[in-house]
Amino acid sequence: MDAKRKEVDQLLSDKREIERKIEEIQANCKHEKSVIKQVADGSGSIRRVCESCGQIVGYPSLEETYAFLKK
Ligand SMILES: [Zn+2]
Repeated sequence: MDAKRKEVDQLLSDKREIERKIEEIQANCKHEKSVIKQVADGSGSIRRVCESCGQIVGYPSLEETYAFLKK
């Protein structure tokens, strides 16, 4: 296997491990505090996300969306 391929495989495996850890943290989080945020998935959607773990926990109301956009 060439070195670049090996490095990519290693990085992909690290990525899976990191994603698994994030999922675990989110699954164990009680999402006690949430904030309105633009999600970083390229869609620019505004969601209510947990301040601790970053998981999407709901949708902001129209008022909250307007207040967020005004900032
Ligand atoms: Zn959370």
